[in-house]
Amino acid sequence: MNLRISALEYVQEVQNGNISAEDFISSTLDRIKSVDDKLHAFLSVNYDAVDQAKEIDKKVKSGDKVGACFGMPVSVKDNICIKDSTTTCASRMLEDFVAPYDATVISKLKEEDAIFIGKTNMDEFAMGLTTEFSAFGPSKNPWDTQYVPGGSSGGSAVSVSALECIVSLGSDTGGSVRNPASFCGSVGYKPTYGLISRFGLISYANSIEQIGPLTRTVKDAAFLLNLITGLDPNDSTTVDNHDEDYLTDIEAGIEGKKIGVIKEMIAEGTDPTVMSATKDAISKLESLGASCEEISLDMVKYSVAAYYAITATEAGSNLARYDNLRYGYDFPVEGYEFNSYIKKARKKFGPEVTRRIILGGFVPSAGQAGKYFLKALKIKSRLTREVDRVFEKYDLLIAPTVPILPFRIGEKIDDPVALFLVDLNTVTANLAGKPAVSVPFAVSNGLPIGIQLLANSMNDKMLLQAAYALEQTVKLPEVPPIP
Ligand code: GLN
Repeated sequence: MNLRISALEYVQEVQNGNISAEDFISSTLDRIKSVDDKLHAFLSVNYDAVDQAKEIDKKVKSGDKVGACFGMPVSVKDNICIKDSTTTCASRMLEDFVAPYDATVISKLKEEDAIFIGKTNMDEFAMGLTTEFSAFGPSKNPWDTQYVPGGSSGGSAVSVSALECIVSLGSDTGGSVRNPASFCGSVGYKPTYGLISRFGLISYANSIEQIGPLTRTVKDAAFLLNLITGLDPNDSTTVDNHDEDYLTDIEAGIEGKKIGVIKEMIAEGTDPTVMSATKDAISKLESLGASCEEISLDMVKYSVAAYYAITATEAGSNLARYDNLRYGYDFPVEGYEFNSYIKKARKKFGPEVTRRIILGGFVPSAGQAGKYFLKALKIKSRLTREVDRVFEKYDLLIAPTVPILPFRIGEKIDDPVALFLVDLNTVTANLAGKPAVSVPFAVSNGLPIGIQLLANSMNDKMLLQAAYALEQTVKLPEVPPIP
């Protein structure tokens, strides 16, 4: 069974009767069994998937209506709720939490006959960018298992690139879909804020995060967006996209488009191979009829600091609910005394989450808020204004997704500030609410490099057209066999 096919190819093959959902799902589960010990993309695997696939095959055979996914295996980051499945956020705190309801993205995909093959590993509560902060151990990069796969949706990216599913859902607060997509050689899409419902996504920093797909191809990202975007009465931040079809005209090209090259994101500290891949991408886009010129976003230099002040503040409030009275693990209440109880209960958070909670208590506190939190909000609105101004003149923006190549597991774990800097190129899209995509563009010394494109709010369709055009300019090697 060829597991390397795209979602659109899969759907075609099942529809034409060339493959059955059952065979594909069985082969996918075999693949997971044979490689996931080495990769640790999954925190839990759905071994009932074969029975679900059989039901779909029955519908196909009898000519009944079948949903658009035809039993396609989808993996899901473990901070998105699937009814009756564990949803741990890769935290000891939620180790045994079984979600009582489906996230909106999940119910939408269920209606389309997707099969959820398993829940993927991540940095605890989505805080991090390597998956090393998972309480259950890191995921490994399938291109070289000594290297981090990126994060926080690391397991999602690994599962797509190591052929353990066809597509995955991740969440992106400051780059968590795009960063691992870049490190693992898959497409990672962060939509316009509000395009995809966050209902059922366990919150980290609500005001800027979005669920987004990780896929093998840009067309697959568009296909998924068609299924999961749109207004949701359960999430009042969702926007009406009028059932936009992201797949039609995806091959429209980028002739005549004006692209701004973000100077501050290709600055000092960018790895030379990432730099040359970016230059190459720019010249390829120009050869397709786009015009590229350097632009400056002055506020980018403060963006990471502002991002961490805002997200820590929101995380601090969001994580306050894990007091073991409402959510948490099994812990006796005998002799209950509030302070000592909470103190003990909250020991289940890992070191990075604990740091964020401490920061999130300090940053907005009386006497400090003016210096930190309010300043961060000012930077956020100035940055957004700058980006909006640039989009008055330019259709798209370009930069490397991550300034450096994947690094070795353990290499940066003791230096959180060095890790924060790796987010430099991704947080702007979140702070400004703009859509952004990482397209796999090069492989250097056996490690993938992604190029990021950004567009103005609600210009997701044009962004996908540009990403598709860029994707067509390269043919990358396949992921090597997992040792
Ligand atoms: N690295 C960033 C953080 O730790 C981004 C994470 C994310 O997008 N969820 O907050």
